[in-house]
Amino acid sequence: MRQLSLLAAALSLFASAAFAEQIYPGYTWQDLADGLFVHTRVDPLAGPIDGNSTVIVNDQDVFVVDTHINPAVARAVIDKIRQITDKPVTHVVNTHWHDDHANGNHAYRQAYPEAKIIAHRATLASLEEEWQAMEDQRKAAYERVAGRDILAAAAALEAEDPERATGYRVFAGYRDALEPELPTMELVYPDLLFDDRLVFERGERTIVVSWLGPGNTEGDALVWLPEEKVLITGDVLVAPIPYAFDAPMDDWIGTLGKIAELGAETFVPGHGAVQRDTRYLERVERLLEATLSAVRQARAAGVAYAELGEAVDLGELERLFTDGDPLRAHAWRSYFLTPGLKSAWTSLGYPVPEEE
Ligand SMILES: [Zn+2]
Repeated sequence: MRQLSLLAAALSLFASAAFAEQIYPGYTWQDLADGLFVHTRVDPLAGPIDGNSTVIVNDQDVFVVDTHINPAVARAVIDKIRQITDKPVTHVVNTHWHDDHANGNHAYRQAYPEAKIIAHRATLASLEEEWQAMEDQRKAAYERVAGRDILAAAAALEAEDPERATGYRVFAGYRDALEPELPTMELVYPDLLFDDRLVFERGERTIVVSWLGPGNTEGDALVWLPEEKVLITGDVLVAPIPYAFDAPMDDWIGTLGKIAELGAETFVPGHGAVQRDTRYLERVERLLEATLSAVRQARAAGVAYAELGEAVDLGELERLFTDGDPLRAHAWRSYFLTPGLKSAWTSLGYPVPEEE
């Protein structure tokens, strides 16, 4: 099943991106439109889970949206940019504070010392609060255990608990990618902040960096190219499984509604395949509304917070997103369902017990 769906993913990637090529193992570089490229994980659910990075080549300069979790991958993107053009990268956007969108900032600062790093004001605040601790935690975790031991543990668990085995393999992927990089990586913080929007005119092209409300975090930046009708969403929209970590679900639904009104025809999600129509966006909206209403009903029936996972059944929608695949099932539980139930519960105004 897994192999079949991987094959299907590889084939559809091939069909939709005639110009796809590999500039770093496990990633693909795609030509989206004139001067517009996206570097994306071939399998977005394999470790390390990494954000997409979008490159916008303008008349005189280059913008980059999100910089990857692994500085080595950011360096590969920079090498590719230099093959395509001698124009400098002048602006880098961090769509939000999670390190899979910001760790590569250091590589850009080294290659283009003049480049401005753009983020919403709330994103800088979260980076200042969380980033150092997150990387220290990663370093400590990777020192404690060898990659081969994690893979051996995954193999031993495979038959009994494939979902947990999958989690171990994802972790091993992070370790392989980051363990050699973290000791020399510096945290380079955004230095051009905004609250509502920044507009850049670049000849024929307009680049709008805006905030339409919380979605995945407090400070999600969207990058909108109105002429090309391309929207780079950050993790407000992630494929094939949405992330429900840090924002209340009703706010997130509201932000997706505003995104739908922009009239985008191409969506570059924070992770996963580029979407050429609004179907995936609509599917995620439907999922969030169903989750919110299931949690509301459960609460009305007297279900406690700790029992939500048992009580809420998203049935058909869960099958639509996971498609019987263990990697997707792992991602569904870890990145959507568990944080999503909390996000729905919180947004309905119910208190979360202390120990959670
Ligand atoms: Zn991300």
